Amino acid sequence: MKKILVTGGVGMIGSHLCRRLLNEGCDVTCLDNFYTGNMRNIADLLDNPYFRLIEHDVEKPIELAVDEIYNMACPASPVHYQKDPVKTVRTSVFGAINMLELAKKNNAKILQASTSEIYGDPFVHPQTEDYWGNVNPIGKRSCYDEGKRCAETLYFDYWRQYAVRIKIVRIFNTYGPAISYNDGRVISNFIIQAMHGNDITIYGDGSQTRCFCYVEDTVDALVKFMHLDDSVTGPVNVGNTIEISMKELAETIIRLLDSSSKIKYLPLPENDPKRRRPDISKIHDLVGWSPKTSLDDGLLNTIKYFRDFQ
Ligand code: UDP
Repeated sequence: MKKILVTGGVGMIGSHLCRRLLNEGCDVTCLDNFYTGNMRNIADLLDNPYFRLIEHDVEKPIELAVDEIYNMACPASPVHYQKDPVKTVRTSVFGAINMLELAKKNNAKILQASTSEIYGDPFVHPQTEDYWGNVNPIGKRSCYDEGKRCAETLYFDYWRQYAVRIKIVRIFNTYGPAISYNDGRVISNFIIQAMHGNDITIYGDGSQTRCFCYVEDTVDALVKFMHLDDSVTGPVNVGNTIEISMKELAETIIRLLDSSSKIKYLPLPENDPKRRRPDISKIHDLVGWSPKTSLDDGLLNTIKYFRDFQ
């Protein structure tokens, strides 16, 4: 049985990933410090004899026998990663070093959950992997953006210097069941506001765009990419390519919930990217992946998750 470590395995993407790997017949160790992850996300896995939960912070080294590592650990919502920005940098940078050291000792394959934030507020649209990005190194988002950029640097240095078998995936906006109620990102905020008939808080004029990928589609890409041979390191973009403005997103969620909520405009946060859309031709050419779930279907599943939550 393949021994797999998923760091941040209690988080939204991590918990779906653990479930998928168990279904594929793997032995899964889930590591999490519960900084943002909720135990409820993995409650159904706890009785599985091939699932192990370890409470641990990736900032600290760990010794384990593993064949593959998915390094997913890091708060990803601007609200959470800006609460303790120094910790966010430590999670990305020390976390990368500790997991790369573990991969080196075990000769394990290691996949890094990188991010579209690598591209900052991009001048190239859609974003291709060869674009180096437009990131403010001293802004409020930089603890996350630069932490993740430094992690990518470390992965490539471990690959060049020690031949560690790396894979880097740049994950664009992902949503779905297991998203935290207090996540603070746009999908959960809008759904919860619309469910309660409260004002929908659009930051700025709502013309900024994102592309939203359903979590199971994202997980499918991660697993397929990990299966590729060692010559393929990435980075590869993973995300949906259907671009939607925050105003259109608010209107979609109001429609799906038949909500009486009104839109309220609030100031745009510092360095908020204006446009974001991945070019996914690279991962498509490598593994034939593209997202399958429509935004309406994915939102309806997420709405159901929040309804059941109450
Ligand atoms: N946003 C918004 N209202 C909210 C939360 C977020 O208008 O209640 C906007 C935010 O300013 C950004 C977009 O939605 O332009 C996506 O934000 P999110 O925090 O979900 O993720 P990001 O892609 O910025 O990391």
